Amino acid sequence: MSSKRFDVVVVGGGPAGVAAAKASAKTGAKTLLLEKNPAIMAIKPCGQAVSAHTFETAGVNPTPPMILNRVSARVYAPNGASVKIPETGYLINKTLLLQEIAVQAAEHGAEIHVNEPFIKFMRRDDGLIVRTPKAEYECSVLIGADGYNSRVARILGVNEKSEPIPTLQYLMAGSRLENVDEIRIYVGNEIAPKGYAWLFPFSEKLAEVGLGVRGAPLKPYMDRVLKILRKELGSAQVIDNRGAPVPVGGVISKYIFDRVILIGDAAGMVIPMTGGGIHSSIAAGIAAGEVAGEASQEGDVSEERLRAFDEKYKPWLERIRRSLKVLRLFERLTDEDLNELAEMLSDEDIVDLANGLNVGRVARKLLSHPRLAMKLARQLLSV
Ligand SMILES: Cc1cc2nc3c(=O)[nH]c(=O)nc-3n(C[C@H](O)[C@H](O)[C@H](O)COP(=O)(O)OP(=O)(O)OC[C@H]3O[C@@H](n4cnc5c(N)ncnc54)[C@H](O)[C@@H]3O)c2cc1C
Repeated sequence: MSSKRFDVVVVGGGPAGVAAAKASAKTGAKTLLLEKNPAIMAIKPCGQAVSAHTFETAGVNPTPPMILNRVSARVYAPNGASVKIPETGYLINKTLLLQEIAVQAAEHGAEIHVNEPFIKFMRRDDGLIVRTPKAEYECSVLIGADGYNSRVARILGVNEKSEPIPTLQYLMAGSRLENVDEIRIYVGNEIAPKGYAWLFPFSEKLAEVGLGVRGAPLKPYMDRVLKILRKELGSAQVIDNRGAPVPVGGVISKYIFDRVILIGDAAGMVIPMTGGGIHSSIAAGIAAGEVAGEASQEGDVSEERLRAFDEKYKPWLERIRRSLKVLRLFERLTDEDLNELAEMLSDEDIVDLANGLNVGRVARKLLSHPRLAMKLARQLLSV
């Protein structure tokens, strides 16, 4: 079995891992990225919706093949009333985004090994030994970016997991969409208890319908969503039917250890209200890669040194924390409350609440409402 020495080994070639490998290699650290699948590509189901800022964080120019559709959004209340969110986002080909970041990682000197799963790591006095079926690698720092069911976390003995929301996603071929420039989000206890349903149009004829619910079975709710969308979907057929858990319970309490950092879904680094994790995972990857790359070259890879990650990732940790608090408050709302919120909130308010930003400003607006002031606004003020 061959053995080679690296400063940093990154496990997982998703958004968090490719970004970490790029950032680590950019510091000059000798970096290895391990991906268990035969390719760096978006194999796990994902809605592939991102904000324009995601590309800035990733340092990627959004070229046409990467962009499937430029979209605004519309959020539907249970009574069918809707709020348009004009802020432009993108439906993307996530594989091309991951591959572009991987190209940049390689250009900075990272070694990328696909088809090579991480199996375990062992601690030695002078570093870590990382084992795969093909080789053993010595390294100073290990970054676990291997998704929700992280093996790195398991080997570390981390039992805590961010609370997941189960999801189901259908790719529908042969739809008849009139407005392909708008993604639709449906909220309400009848349609998606403690979650939401979505319709993401890739083109007139190809759309993705997704659903995340908690405490209820997915399939009957998905059947209902398809019924509600029957006009738009026409006789469209399901050509891809997959689901996966999204960690929406916030960041786990311990994700930094001596020589090891867990990031992305592995650590619950997802915006709880939206379930969006591409941008937050890329940002985590950049922060972890920089810290691990610098620390390994300085020769101090203690937990304390690696805590510099928290400082770099602080705005995201705050956003995730606030968004989780908002989610917990929204879980208690009735459909009637949601209908009234749709009348009171502007597009900016909705974006802010979902992302855990300017929550106090939105809360003050709701203070004038007799019921929502008691039920929501006062609690939001303390978020
Ligand atoms: C149905 C659904 C829809 C979603 N829609 C959106 C959306 O529209 N927008 C958005 O921003 N977010 C969305 N998300 C969330 C987003 O997909 C994730 O938060 C994000 O991909 C997390 O990135 P990650 O790199 O941490 O983990 P992952 O994307 O899970 O990547 C982990 C990588 O590690 C690899 N790996 C695992 N184990 C090993 C091992 N032992 N050795 C080597 N490699 C390993 C995997 O193969 C994978 O490549 C959605 C999620 C789901 C489930």
